[in-house]
Formats: sequence, structure tokens, C-alpha cells
Amino acid sequence: MMSSVPSGDKKSKLLVYSVEECPVCGQKTKRAFAVGDYVTKDGAKCTKCGNQTRVALVYAEGTKPSG
Ligand SMILES: [Zn+2]
Repeated sequence: MMSSVPSGDKKSKLLVYSVEECPVCGQKTKRAFAVGDYVTKDGAKCTKCGNQTRVALVYAEGTKPSG
């Protein structure tokens, strides 16, 4: 028997990350996305050299239940 219902029963969970990059030393810090984040937004102070970082990348990763 064929079912026409698409297999969208289990939603794959997406985790969104922001990557802050320091324009001075290139240090990259990956952290959990916060509402209001966008590319080029000011980030936290660089943990290496203390300069202002910028959000260089916002992306989502799918979680895999196993392996
Ligand atoms: Zn730096």
C-alpha cells in the first residue's frame, strides 16, 4: 500500500550558530545564535587581542540522532 503522506513526521532539529571573527588577529569564535544576530554585527571582544569582533557567519547545523 502506498502512502501519499510525505515523511515529515519527525522534524530534524536545527541548531543555529554565529561565528564572530576578529578583524585584527583572525580569531574565530563559534557560539550559539542569539536573536538579533546578523552578519557584520558587532560581537564580543576578542579573547586573544581584545579588539572588537564582528559576526562573520551565521549558519545552521542539523543534529544527528546517532553516528
Ligand atoms: Zn583578535
